[in-house]
Amino acid sequence: MSRRNLQRYKRLLLAKRDELSAARDEAAALLPPAGDSEGDLMDRARADAEAELQTRVRQTDGRLLRAIEEALIRIRRGTFGVCEACKSPISKARLEAVPWTHLCRDCKERKHSTA
Ligand SMILES: [Zn+2]
Repeated sequence: MSRRNLQRYKRLLLAKRDELSAARDEAAALLPPAGDSEGDLMDRARADAEAELQTRVRQTDGRLLRAIEEALIRIRRGTFGVCEACKSPISKARLEAVPWTHLCRDCKERKHSTA
């Protein structure tokens, strides 16, 4: 893969990472503030909101963020765009759609993986 293409995918990955981080910060800002004057009710509301946020971040954004970080590492190592299972180049169309993927379409379908 050409250096120019790699730079392009790197930009895509960084943009997506920023987007996810911003969304996470936004969600965190919606949490009620931790106050000691409102008593148990507020504490419980905050605990509930935090638990919900944590679950959501862990299940969706967290997984994607990790996949993006791993893709950035592969760019640095020079293995980006190569399927980790069969070592074939991943198609350009697939990388355009999901630049953080580490599997070609065939292997993805075989593994039923989420990446
Ligand atoms: Zn493959």
